[in-house]
Amino acid sequence: MTHSNYYADVPLERDDFLRRDESELARLRSDPLSRVLVLWRDKHQVAGDDQPTPIWHSGKAAQELLSDSENWILLGTRDGLAHFAIDMSHLTNPSEHSLLADHTNFMDLRSIGPLLARADSSVMAYARGMVFWTRRNIFCGACGEKTKHMSAGHMRKCTNISCGLDHFPRTDPAVIVLVIHDDKCLLGRQKIWPKGMRSTLAGFLEPGESLEETVVRELHEEAGVRLATAPIYQHSQPWPFPCSLMVGFYARAATKTLIVNTDELETADWFSREELLNSPENESFRLPRRDSIARRLIDDWLSGGVSP
Ligand SMILES: [Zn+2]
Repeated sequence: MTHSNYYADVPLERDDFLRRDESELARLRSDPLSRVLVLWRDKHQVAGDDQPTPIWHSGKAAQELLSDSENWILLGTRDGLAHFAIDMSHLTNPSEHSLLADHTNFMDLRSIGPLLARADSSVMAYARGMVFWTRRNIFCGACGEKTKHMSAGHMRKCTNISCGLDHFPRTDPAVIVLVIHDDKCLLGRQKIWPKGMRSTLAGFLEPGESLEETVVRELHEEAGVRLATAPIYQHSQPWPFPCSLMVGFYARAATKTLIVNTDELETADWFSREELLNSPENESFRLPRRDSIARRLIDDWLSGGVSP
Protein backbone atom coordinates (compact mmCIF):
# COMPACT_ATOMS: atom_id res chain seq x y z
CA MET A 1 0.00 0.00 0.00
CA THR A 2 1.61 3.26 -1.07
CA HIS A 3 -0.54 5.85 0.63
CA SER A 4 -3.54 6.25 2.90
CA ASN A 5 -6.99 7.21 1.74
CA TYR A 6 -8.28 10.77 1.69
CA TYR A 7 -9.78 11.86 5.03
CA ALA A 8 -7.77 9.27 6.99
CA ASP A 9 -4.62 10.01 9.02
CA VAL A 10 -5.86 13.03 10.99
CA PRO A 11 -2.65 14.87 11.99
CA LEU A 12 -3.74 15.42 15.60
CA GLU A 13 -3.19 13.54 18.84
CA ARG A 14 -6.72 12.70 19.94
CA ASP A 15 -5.71 12.83 23.62
CA ASP A 16 -8.71 10.96 24.98
CA PHE A 17 -7.57 11.64 28.58
CA LEU A 18 -8.01 15.41 28.12
CA ARG A 19 -11.73 15.01 27.38
CA ARG A 20 -12.46 14.27 31.04
CA ASP A 21 -9.97 16.73 32.60
CA GLU A 22 -12.22 19.71 33.34
CA SER A 23 -9.47 22.01 34.69
CA GLU A 24 -7.19 21.34 31.73
CA LEU A 25 -10.09 21.81 29.32
CA ALA A 26 -10.86 25.19 30.93
CA ARG A 27 -7.21 26.19 30.54
CA LEU A 28 -7.11 25.11 26.89
CA ARG A 29 -10.38 26.95 26.12
CA SER A 30 -8.81 30.19 27.36
CA ASP A 31 -5.32 29.57 25.96
CA PRO A 32 -4.69 32.26 23.27
CA LEU A 33 -2.71 29.72 21.25
CA SER A 34 -5.62 27.25 21.01
CA ARG A 35 -7.18 27.01 17.56
CA VAL A 36 -10.87 26.90 16.64
CA LEU A 37 -12.49 25.63 13.43
CA VAL A 38 -16.03 26.91 12.79
CA LEU A 39 -18.75 24.80 11.18
CA TRP A 40 -22.22 25.88 10.20
CA ARG A 41 -24.79 23.32 9.07
CA ASP A 42 -22.25 20.78 7.76
CA LYS A 43 -20.18 23.50 6.08
CA HIS A 44 -16.69 24.68 6.97
CA GLN A 45 -15.41 28.23 7.11
CA VAL A 46 -12.65 28.42 4.51
CA ALA A 47 -10.53 31.01 2.71
CA GLY A 48 -9.85 30.93 -1.01
CA ASP A 49 -11.82 29.36 -3.86
CA ASP A 50 -9.45 27.50 -6.17
CA GLN A 51 -7.27 26.20 -3.33
CA PRO A 52 -9.38 26.56 -0.19
CA THR A 53 -7.79 26.36 3.25
CA PRO A 54 -9.64 26.08 6.56
CA ILE A 55 -9.79 29.19 8.73
CA TRP A 56 -8.49 28.57 12.26
CA HIS A 57 -9.35 31.22 14.84
CA SER A 58 -7.04 31.87 17.79
CA GLY A 59 -6.61 34.42 20.57
CA LYS A 60 -9.59 36.41 21.79
CA ALA A 61 -11.66 35.51 18.73
CA ALA A 62 -11.27 31.80 19.47
CA GLN A 63 -12.22 32.29 23.13
CA GLU A 64 -15.30 34.29 22.19
CA LEU A 65 -16.41 31.75 19.61
CA LEU A 66 -15.92 28.88 22.06
CA SER A 67 -18.11 30.65 24.60
CA ASP A 68 -20.80 31.35 21.99
CA SER A 69 -21.52 27.72 21.12
CA GLU A 70 -22.87 25.02 23.40
CA ASN A 71 -21.56 22.48 20.95
CA TRP A 72 -17.79 22.59 21.03
CA ILE A 73 -15.51 19.63 20.48
CA LEU A 74 -11.89 19.10 21.43
CA LEU A 75 -10.53 17.45 18.29
CA GLY A 76 -7.09 16.93 19.79
CA THR A 77 -3.67 18.55 20.03
CA ARG A 78 -0.75 19.13 17.70
CA ASP A 79 2.64 20.25 19.05
CA GLY A 80 0.88 20.91 22.35
CA LEU A 81 -1.72 23.26 20.83
CA ALA A 82 -5.38 22.41 21.34
CA HIS A 83 -7.59 22.21 18.23
CA PHE A 84 -11.32 22.69 18.72
CA ALA A 85 -14.31 22.55 16.37
CA ILE A 86 -17.50 24.47 17.14
CA ASP A 87 -20.96 24.25 15.65
CA MET A 88 -22.64 27.59 14.91
CA SER A 89 -25.69 26.06 13.24
CA HIS A 90 -27.99 27.92 15.67
CA LEU A 91 -27.34 31.07 13.59
CA THR A 92 -29.73 31.63 10.70
CA ASN A 93 -26.73 32.92 8.79
CA PRO A 94 -23.11 32.88 10.02
CA SER A 95 -22.73 36.57 9.13
CA GLU A 96 -25.00 37.32 12.13
CA HIS A 97 -21.94 36.77 14.31
CA SER A 98 -19.54 39.71 14.36
CA LEU A 99 -16.48 37.45 14.21
CA LEU A 100 -17.81 35.57 11.21
CA ALA A 101 -19.09 38.59 9.29
CA ASP A 102 -15.82 38.97 7.37
CA HIS A 103 -15.46 35.29 6.72
CA THR A 104 -18.76 34.08 5.36
CA ASN A 105 -17.22 31.66 2.94
CA PHE A 106 -18.76 28.47 4.30
CA MET A 107 -18.31 25.49 2.00
CA ASP A 108 -19.23 21.82 2.02
CA LEU A 109 -16.27 19.45 2.26
CA ARG A 110 -18.16 17.23 -0.15
CA SER A 111 -17.64 19.91 -2.81
CA ILE A 112 -14.11 21.06 -2.01
CA GLY A 113 -12.46 17.92 -0.55
CA PRO A 114 -10.20 17.12 -3.52
CA LEU A 115 -8.99 20.75 -3.67
CA LEU A 116 -7.67 20.78 -0.11
CA ALA A 117 -4.31 19.76 1.34
CA ARG A 118 -4.71 16.17 2.53
CA ALA A 119 -3.95 16.98 6.20
CA ASP A 120 -6.51 19.82 6.19
CA SER A 121 -9.16 17.64 4.58
CA SER A 122 -8.66 14.93 7.21
CA VAL A 123 -9.13 17.30 10.14
CA MET A 124 -12.15 18.87 8.46
CA ALA A 125 -13.68 15.44 7.83
CA TYR A 126 -13.22 14.50 11.48
CA ALA A 127 -14.77 17.79 12.60
CA ARG A 128 -17.68 17.43 10.15
CA GLY A 129 -18.44 13.94 11.42
CA MET A 130 -18.38 15.05 15.05
CA VAL A 131 -20.57 18.10 14.46
CA PHE A 132 -23.06 16.09 12.38
CA TRP A 133 -23.36 13.51 15.17
CA THR A 134 -23.81 16.28 17.76
CA ARG A 135 -26.61 17.93 15.82
CA ARG A 136 -28.42 14.62 15.35
CA ASN A 137 -28.22 13.74 19.06
CA ILE A 138 -29.52 16.85 20.80
CA PHE A 139 -32.40 14.64 21.98
CA CYS A 140 -32.19 11.17 23.48
CA GLY A 141 -33.16 8.43 21.03
CA ALA A 142 -34.51 6.30 23.89
CA CYS A 143 -36.79 8.72 25.78
CA GLY A 144 -36.87 11.93 23.74
CA GLU A 145 -35.51 14.19 26.51
CA LYS A 146 -32.67 16.65 25.84
CA THR A 147 -29.09 15.45 26.02
CA LYS A 148 -26.17 17.46 27.37
CA HIS A 149 -22.61 18.03 26.18
CA MET A 150 -20.02 15.83 27.94
CA SER A 151 -16.39 14.71 27.49
CA ALA A 152 -15.36 17.74 25.43
CA GLY A 153 -18.12 16.96 22.90
CA HIS A 154 -17.30 13.25 22.54
CA MET A 155 -20.31 12.08 24.51
CA ARG A 156 -23.86 13.30 25.19
CA LYS A 157 -25.84 12.28 28.25
CA CYS A 158 -29.62 12.15 28.52
CA THR A 159 -30.85 14.71 31.06
CA ASN A 160 -33.83 12.55 32.08
CA ILE A 161 -32.67 11.11 35.40
CA SER A 162 -34.75 7.96 34.98
CA CYS A 163 -33.08 7.36 31.61
CA GLY A 164 -29.58 8.88 31.78
CA LEU A 165 -28.42 7.12 28.61
CA ASP A 166 -24.93 7.93 27.36
CA HIS A 167 -24.70 8.61 23.61
CA PHE A 168 -21.42 8.20 21.72
CA PRO A 169 -20.47 9.22 18.16
CA ARG A 170 -21.52 6.64 15.60
CA THR A 171 -20.06 5.55 12.29
CA ASP A 172 -22.07 3.56 9.73
CA PRO A 173 -19.93 0.90 8.02
CA ALA A 174 -20.44 0.26 4.32
CA VAL A 175 -18.63 -2.09 1.97
CA ILE A 176 -17.35 -0.96 -1.40
CA VAL A 177 -16.04 -3.50 -3.85
CA LEU A 178 -14.32 -3.69 -7.20
CA VAL A 179 -15.38 -6.94 -8.86
CA ILE A 180 -13.02 -8.47 -11.41
CA HIS A 181 -13.64 -11.12 -14.07
CA ASP A 182 -10.72 -12.11 -16.29
CA ASP A 183 -9.27 -8.78 -17.44
CA LYS A 184 -12.34 -6.63 -16.82
CA CYS A 185 -13.89 -4.93 -13.82
CA LEU A 186 -17.51 -4.26 -12.96
CA LEU A 187 -18.69 -0.66 -12.62
CA GLY A 188 -22.24 0.48 -12.04
CA ARG A 189 -24.10 3.72 -12.17
CA GLN A 190 -26.86 5.25 -10.03
CA LYS A 191 -29.28 7.77 -11.55
CA ILE A 192 -28.46 10.41 -8.96
CA TRP A 193 -24.73 10.47 -9.75
CA PRO A 194 -23.08 13.15 -11.93
CA LYS A 195 -23.69 12.49 -15.63
CA GLY A 196 -21.44 9.79 -17.05
CA MET A 197 -20.02 8.65 -13.72
CA ARG A 198 -19.44 4.93 -13.19
CA SER A 199 -18.19 3.46 -9.94
CA THR A 200 -17.68 0.40 -7.82
CA LEU A 201 -20.68 -1.23 -6.15
CA ALA A 202 -21.31 -0.46 -2.48
CA GLY A 203 -23.81 -0.99 0.29
CA PHE A 204 -24.42 -0.63 4.01
CA LEU A 205 -24.07 -3.44 6.49
CA GLU A 206 -27.24 -4.87 7.98
CA PRO A 207 -27.40 -6.06 11.60
CA GLY A 208 -26.10 -9.59 11.96
CA GLU A 209 -23.82 -9.43 8.91
CA SER A 210 -20.06 -9.66 8.59
CA LEU A 211 -18.38 -7.32 6.11
CA GLU A 212 -17.73 -10.26 3.79
CA GLU A 213 -21.39 -11.33 3.91
CA THR A 214 -22.45 -7.79 2.99
CA VAL A 215 -20.17 -7.85 -0.06
CA VAL A 216 -21.69 -11.14 -1.22
CA ARG A 217 -25.28 -9.95 -0.60
CA GLU A 218 -24.89 -6.51 -2.18
CA LEU A 219 -23.25 -7.84 -5.34
CA HIS A 220 -25.99 -10.39 -5.77
CA GLU A 221 -28.80 -7.94 -5.00
CA GLU A 222 -27.54 -5.15 -7.23
CA ALA A 223 -26.03 -6.99 -10.19
CA GLY A 224 -26.80 -10.71 -9.85
CA VAL A 225 -23.09 -11.44 -9.39
CA ARG A 226 -21.89 -14.63 -7.71
CA LEU A 227 -18.31 -14.72 -6.50
CA ALA A 228 -15.70 -17.33 -7.40
CA THR A 229 -13.74 -16.77 -4.19
CA ALA A 230 -14.12 -14.93 -0.91
CA PRO A 231 -13.81 -11.11 -1.14
CA ILE A 232 -10.41 -9.72 -0.14
CA TYR A 233 -10.20 -6.72 2.20
CA GLN A 234 -7.92 -3.88 1.03
CA HIS A 235 -8.23 -0.74 3.15
CA SER A 236 -10.86 1.62 4.57
CA GLN A 237 -11.80 5.28 4.45
CA PRO A 238 -13.66 7.62 6.77
CA TRP A 239 -16.40 9.15 4.62
CA PRO A 240 -18.19 11.83 6.64
CA PHE A 241 -21.02 12.40 4.16
CA PRO A 242 -22.55 12.17 6.62
CA CYS A 243 -21.10 9.45 8.85
CA SER A 244 -19.81 6.39 7.00
CA LEU A 245 -16.75 4.21 7.08
CA MET A 246 -16.13 2.77 3.62
CA VAL A 247 -14.52 -0.68 3.80
CA GLY A 248 -12.82 -1.52 0.51
CA PHE A 249 -12.64 -4.99 -1.08
CA TYR A 250 -11.66 -6.71 -4.28
CA ALA A 251 -13.66 -9.74 -5.41
CA ARG A 252 -13.54 -12.15 -8.31
CA ALA A 253 -16.80 -13.02 -10.09
CA ALA A 254 -17.59 -16.62 -11.01
CA THR A 255 -19.08 -15.62 -14.40
CA LYS A 256 -19.70 -12.49 -16.46
CA THR A 257 -23.46 -12.88 -16.17
CA LEU A 258 -25.15 -9.74 -14.82
CA ILE A 259 -28.74 -9.29 -13.68
CA VAL A 260 -28.93 -5.58 -12.95
CA ASN A 261 -31.47 -4.52 -10.33
CA THR A 262 -32.81 -1.32 -11.84
CA ASP A 263 -34.33 -0.27 -8.51
CA GLU A 264 -30.75 0.19 -7.29
CA LEU A 265 -28.65 0.78 -10.41
CA GLU A 266 -29.34 2.52 -13.70
CA THR A 267 -26.75 0.30 -15.35
CA ALA A 268 -23.76 -1.95 -14.66
CA ASP A 269 -21.21 -3.41 -17.04
CA TRP A 270 -17.74 -4.84 -17.46
CA PHE A 271 -14.90 -2.53 -18.51
CA SER A 272 -11.35 -3.26 -19.64
CA ARG A 273 -8.27 -1.48 -18.32
CA GLU A 274 -7.89 0.15 -21.73
CA GLU A 275 -11.40 1.59 -21.62
CA LEU A 276 -10.83 3.06 -18.17
CA LEU A 277 -7.35 4.40 -18.94
CA ASN A 278 -8.87 6.20 -21.94
CA SER A 279 -11.84 7.53 -19.99
CA PRO A 280 -12.90 10.84 -21.57
CA GLU A 281 -13.88 12.14 -18.10
CA ASN A 282 -16.95 13.86 -19.45
CA GLU A 283 -20.71 13.36 -19.48
CA SER A 284 -20.40 10.24 -21.61
CA PHE A 285 -18.05 8.46 -19.18
CA ARG A 286 -16.14 9.47 -16.09
CA LEU A 287 -14.47 7.71 -13.17
CA PRO A 288 -15.38 8.44 -9.53
CA ARG A 289 -13.92 11.50 -7.77
CA ARG A 290 -10.26 11.42 -6.85
CA ASP A 291 -10.81 11.61 -3.08
CA SER A 292 -12.95 8.45 -3.04
CA ILE A 293 -11.86 4.95 -2.06
CA ALA A 294 -13.73 3.78 -5.17
CA ARG A 295 -11.25 5.68 -7.34
CA ARG A 296 -8.32 4.24 -5.42
CA LEU A 297 -9.60 0.67 -5.83
CA ILE A 298 -9.90 1.30 -9.58
CA ASP A 299 -6.54 3.09 -9.91
CA ASP A 300 -4.70 0.37 -8.00
CA TRP A 301 -6.23 -2.28 -10.26
CA LEU A 302 -5.36 -0.23 -13.36
CA SER A 303 -1.75 0.07 -12.27
CA GLY A 304 -1.55 -3.70 -11.84
CA GLY A 305 -0.96 -3.39 -8.14
CA VAL A 306 -3.59 -5.99 -7.22
CA SER A 307 -4.77 -9.30 -8.59
CA PRO A 308 -7.67 -10.60 -6.54
ZN1 LIG B 1 -33.11 9.40 27.58
